[in-house]
Amino acid sequence: MLTIENLTHIYGNGTRALDGVSLTIPKGMFGLLGPNGAGKSTLMRSIATLQTPTSGSIRFGDIDVIAEPEKLRRVLGYLPQDFGVYPRVSAYDMLNHMAVLKGIANGKERKATVEALLQQVNLWPVRGKALAGFSGGMRQRFGIAQALIGNPELIIVDEPTAGLDPEERNRFLNLLAEVGENVVVILSTHIVQDVTDLCPRMAVLAGGKIQLEGAPTELQHQLEGKIWRRTIDKAELPEFRKRNEVISSRLVGGRTVIHVLSDHHPGDGFETAPGGLEDVYMATVAKTRRAAA
Ligand code: ADP
Repeated sequence: MLTIENLTHIYGNGTRALDGVSLTIPKGMFGLLGPNGAGKSTLMRSIATLQTPTSGSIRFGDIDVIAEPEKLRRVLGYLPQDFGVYPRVSAYDMLNHMAVLKGIANGKERKATVEALLQQVNLWPVRGKALAGFSGGMRQRFGIAQALIGNPELIIVDEPTAGLDPEERNRFLNLLAEVGENVVVILSTHIVQDVTDLCPRMAVLAGGKIQLEGAPTELQHQLEGKIWRRTIDKAELPEFRKRNEVISSRLVGGRTVIHVLSDHHPGDGFETAPGGLEDVYMATVAKTRRAAA
């Protein structure tokens, strides 16, 4: 169990990236959703001990993460947003090298670990190829393989599916779901579908604060009967925005479909829409934006 209490981070330029964040994260997949600039990476880097928060506490089991970062690093697997370097080194050699860095000194044990991980992430057939030539999906699967070295108890993946095509994304998410059963996995993302597909629990971070937390199914339940849909002309959008709480607008077959949040029927032409997690998320982000305006 990961327990975060009252975490605040203020960067040197005065940006308050995290503002009193408290979260309890049990075993299994946990989705952290938020728009760009919400503070997700700051939170992930703080948990991964790559930066020290301004104030607050983080505990993982009996480890005080801020006071004992080296203890956390022993049980942590981290896939950062920008995994960065993709050298002309083979996947096998790179993973082997990373296992050395992670402290697996015994050659036999390391060989077994590296081989098992390459099999698990389905990169065994291309183990001899240079990482530089890997596709986005292959790189992310390699990223997961390196994060899994040493059987971590806490796994953090920061925006892992951005830029993956649907097939690669599916493959990646299935892999994550497999490893996510017995450990704490935090999936930070701005893609709602990732969370819908995978996570029994989630939170929405926006403006450095936790705006919402719970089980996706329960959160969707709370919006039941309050989401309304209408097809409009694009030019009418500003007018609808003035009169209604428009939480999303999207083009469907060249026309604009809006979703409105309202306790009552918002008027002619609206029909109820089955509220999905996307609506929960959009309603939360819209509320945060309004509060900040
Ligand atoms: P997210 O990962 O959700 O996009 P970040 O944690 O990257 O959010 O950023 C949160 C806020 O902190 C943003 O306003 C961002 O501009 C700011 N920020 C991030 N890193 C730094 C930094 N090194 N120095 C100053 N401000 C930063």
